[in-house]
Amino acid sequence: MIRILNTLTERKDEFKPISEGKVSMYVCGPTVYNLIHIGNARPMIVFDAVRRYFLYRGYEVNFVSNFTDVDDKIIKEAIAENSTASEISERYIIECKKDMEAMGIMPATTNPKATEEIPSMIEMIKTLIDKGFAYVSDDGTVYYRIRKFSRYGELSHKNIDDLEPNSHRSLLVNGEDKKEDPLDFVLWKPKKEGEPYWESPWCEGRPGWHIECSCMSKRYLGDTIDIHAGGEDLIFPHHENEIAQSEAANGVPFAHYWMHNAFLNINNQKMSKSLGNFFTVRDILKEYEGRVLRFFMLSAHYRTPLNFSKEIMEANKASLQRIITCCSRLNELYDSSKIGQDEDAEISDELYEKLNGFRQAFCDNMDDDFNTAGAIGTIFELVKFINQNADEKTSGADLFAMRNALLELTEVLGIDITENKGSLDDDIEALINERQDARKAKDFKRADEIRDELKRQGIILEDTKDGVKWRRE
Ligand code: AMP
Ligand code: ZN
Repeated sequence: MIRILNTLTERKDEFKPISEGKVSMYVCGPTVYNLIHIGNARPMIVFDAVRRYFLYRGYEVNFVSNFTDVDDKIIKEAIAENSTASEISERYIIECKKDMEAMGIMPATTNPKATEEIPSMIEMIKTLIDKGFAYVSDDGTVYYRIRKFSRYGELSHKNIDDLEPNSHRSLLVNGEDKKEDPLDFVLWKPKKEGEPYWESPWCEGRPGWHIECSCMSKRYLGDTIDIHAGGEDLIFPHHENEIAQSEAANGVPFAHYWMHNAFLNINNQKMSKSLGNFFTVRDILKEYEGRVLRFFMLSAHYRTPLNFSKEIMEANKASLQRIITCCSRLNELYDSSKIGQDEDAEISDELYEKLNGFRQAFCDNMDDDFNTAGAIGTIFELVKFINQNADEKTSGADLFAMRNALLELTEVLGIDITENKGSLDDDIEALINERQDARKAKDFKRADEIRDELKRQGIILEDTKDGVKWRRE
């Protein structure tokens, strides 16, 4: 039985899927105006591990995660670079996907982009206006009327009346003084000069952030989903607002389980772009393989704050290496083993029991609100057991079974333990080779495109007598 600490109920609730054997899951994705930082990578990695565990337990998982590709920050970046919002977002979606691949994150079943879902947002806003949950102000801005939704505050366990005095001043900014209540939030806003916009019944403009997720979740997963997840900063107001929108429009519960990861911190302070205390995933991948970063993120339970430092990364690198070395040693012993390598060779009963015991302990940890820290602890116990028990006298069948158990459990966490696993460097080498081929074929246009692409990634090419060499800026 899998139990999930549900932000909504503040209890560990037994997981009961809406459809037998299936999980529908929505994870709020990044706003793409820059390279992602390792704080953004935390929800990506932990919820990927949650997804993988469901798969391991035999569930089919429909996993949707969006890209917010229209937003003030993107528009600001476009103006700064004399570019367009869509060019900025397209560029960083590509970069984000590269980082995700390097961190062993499985591609989502669907990766919707907000700008491609505008018609369904307009539909939902219309429904909310018709039902009296939203209103249009003189300038065409549409607001959600939070006092009309009686369950507002249930997810974040906040009382609206407690919220209002503090928020009053800060919420009445940016010309949003047409609100009936300071806590009302924007569903649709008029365009400003030079901004991307869409036609709507209210004004030429663009959607608010919260409506995006309500619509994309509905479109790809249905009115009610099993799990909705994201970082804990999204509980209020983002997820609270999503619930208000979706439940008012659809008339049914939005999500049964709400999962929120704690922050990745530096010196006990949240890592964030605005505080400037961040490292991009790309920065870290210059020094560490993606799997080390992944291992570090899973070394703590997702609801516990996690501190980042170079020392901690070094310690994690060394710990992961212990698992990798254990697997390599099993490979070597197996290759040189003369006994029990034929297909019918059987694993000894005692070992069979023992390995199943490790599998069970691993599952007990993961069943308990996806305790990856405990699960990694079990993997280390398995490593210790293997190191103590595998030697030249162990049969091929037993070595094989030990290796399978180790690969099986690390795979559930998405941690690759084969030797010398590639990083982003493999992509770069592939591009350089493609450029060499293009030059040979006198396709200089393609060769130049690749050179520019590499330059943008900060890769410097040098033609030497031994061929093309590369280094990072
Ligand atoms: P954003 O692009 O800021 O909307 O963030 C994308 C996702 O990353 C959200 O789920 C955030 O909650 C999460 N996130 C941002 N910063 C951190 C951090 N320092 N630690 C953990 N999660 C974070
Ligand atoms: Zn969202």
